[in-house]
Order: sequence, then C-alpha cells, then structure tokens
Amino acid sequence: MEKHARRIHKVLRHCEDLSDRIVGRTGVLFVTFAVALLIPCTFSFFEVIFPHALAHSTPLTRRLAAVYCTWHAAVIFFNYYKAVTVSPGLVSVGEDEVAADTAHRSHTKCSKCSAVKPERAHHCRVCSRCILKYDHHCPWINQCVGLGNERYFVLFMLYLSAACLIVGVMGYGAVFDEVLPNRGSDEWTQRYYSPPFFAVLTWLLALLIGSVVGVMAAWQLSLVFQGLTSVEYEDHRAYRKAVRRDRRNGLQPAYTAINPYDFGWAKNLSLFFNIGGGRRHWTVLLLPIPHPPCGDGYTFAKRNTQGLQLHFDSESESEGDVV
Ligand SMILES: [Zn+2]
Ligand SMILES: [Zn+2]
Repeated sequence: MEKHARRIHKVLRHCEDLSDRIVGRTGVLFVTFAVALLIPCTFSFFEVIFPHALAHSTPLTRRLAAVYCTWHAAVIFFNYYKAVTVSPGLVSVGEDEVAADTAHRSHTKCSKCSAVKPERAHHCRVCSRCILKYDHHCPWINQCVGLGNERYFVLFMLYLSAACLIVGVMGYGAVFDEVLPNRGSDEWTQRYYSPPFFAVLTWLLALLIGSVVGVMAAWQLSLVFQGLTSVEYEDHRAYRKAVRRDRRNGLQPAYTAINPYDFGWAKNLSLFFNIGGGRRHWTVLLLPIPHPPCGDGYTFAKRNTQGLQLHFDSESESEGDVV
C-alpha cells in the first residue's frame, strides 16, 4: 500500500515538473498572444466603436472622451509593459550579500536553490529562483509576480477590467447597428481598416476578458486590503482551518492565526502601492510612470502581535503556485 502511494506521488511529481517546464517554455507565446490581441483590439476600438458610440455627442464631449480613452489605453500598455519587464525581485544568493544580511534579517535556506530566503520570499518552481514577497507565477507576463512588479500587475488588471467594461457598454450599439449590418459591404472597406470580425471580436473579448480579469483583479485587490500575498492567503486559510478543527475537537490550538503584516485595509493599500503617509501621492497611480516598491523586500513592517504571528516560512510552504 505504502509502495503504491509512493509511486502515485512520484508520478504526480513528474506531472507537476512537466507542467512547470511547459509554463516556463511557453511564457513568451502567452505574452506575444496578449500583445497581438491588445494592439489590434485597441485600434479597432478607436476606429470603429468609439466614433459610433459618440456619433451624436457634442464636439467637446468627443474630445474629452478621446483624451480619457487615450489615457486609459496608455496606462494599460504601460502597466503591462512594466509587469512583464520589471524584475519581481530575485533573492540574492551571493555570499557577500548573505553575510551582510544575516545580521538583521529573518531567513531560512531554500532547499531548491540554496538561497537564504528573507521573510515573505518563496521559491518559484517555474523560474527555479526564490522571489522577494512572492505572490505567484503568471504565464501572461512570463515571470513571477513579486515585490518588484506587483503594483504594475494589479494596476494592469484593474485598468484592463475597467476598459473591458467601457468597451462592452460602448461596443453594443456599434456591433449591432454598424458592424453586423454593414459587414462585407464596399462602404465598410472604404471607411475602416479593421475587418468587421475584429470589431466584433473586440467587443466579445471585452465581455469575456472583462468578466475573468475583473474577478481576478477584485481577488488581488482583496488580498492587498488584507496585507497578504496569494501564498500567504493559502497558508493563512490552512492555519485557520487547523485552529477551527482543534477547537471543534475540544483541544487548545497550538497557535493562533494572526497576520503580522495586516495594518488595516487603508494602510495595507498605502504600503502595497507605496503611497500616502509621507510617501508619494495616490495620483501617481494614474500616471504611466515607475512606481518603486515600499521597502527592499528583506524586512517588512509588522504590527505588534504580542508574540503571536502566523509563521509563513516553513519548507512545506516554500513552493508557490502557478496562476
Ligand atoms: Zn529557492
Ligand atoms: Zn516564476
């Protein structure tokens, strides 16, 4: 029986390794696919949907809407570009850095890459590296979401969800009054560069992607409000479950599930985006400019939990998920 279980575990482990390798190798394709959709869909929106939706508006409204939509497209592309290109924050493995770190940083040694992990760092199976404040590995940006790029990632999802909602609302009339009745006509080919199917695809993708990314963006934002990463949320849930089980069985729980990084939603938001409280003004999040992280990823502000802290750094939690 035990031999059988070991064999099943080994097979599952191989499947896991294979899926990690596939995710790692196909990341570039995911990014290429995302860009190949984003650019023509944006073009199609400005060429077909936008003019149709505002055909009966005043010139001033049209101008203001054009400025708004251009800004919205700019922040989407900027944040996606940054999420893909800014390093999530690799844990340094050089001996000098480790020696310098050991004096004041809490850490454990990674069994996979031998890096000395600071608190909140986790090993990514796909990248084979330990990442500072690791959240998850995302194939759509072909790298991890960590301390370095997490703000861009969340902003990208929020801006994209809002854009999908706008395209969904504005595109309804354009698709049914303009695109479908005029598809294939000479008038269409003379007026537009976008093929009719692409205008329809833009609208349909806005509905589909808007629903999926909207839910994911809301989820990520709720984690930001709680001062948790995705990995920590799973750990926290497991701890809470264990505490509840102990209480149900009439036992005194061995620990208390407290998140030491939770300062309340407003301060958690402020720390995540590095805004407010003497830091940068929140309006910088509206601009396509770099947003540096709050802190170096090796030490984090922690509230006084009087010795009660959720332990995040055990080896069993060291491997992050791929989302
Ligand atoms: Zn590692
Ligand atoms: Zn990764």
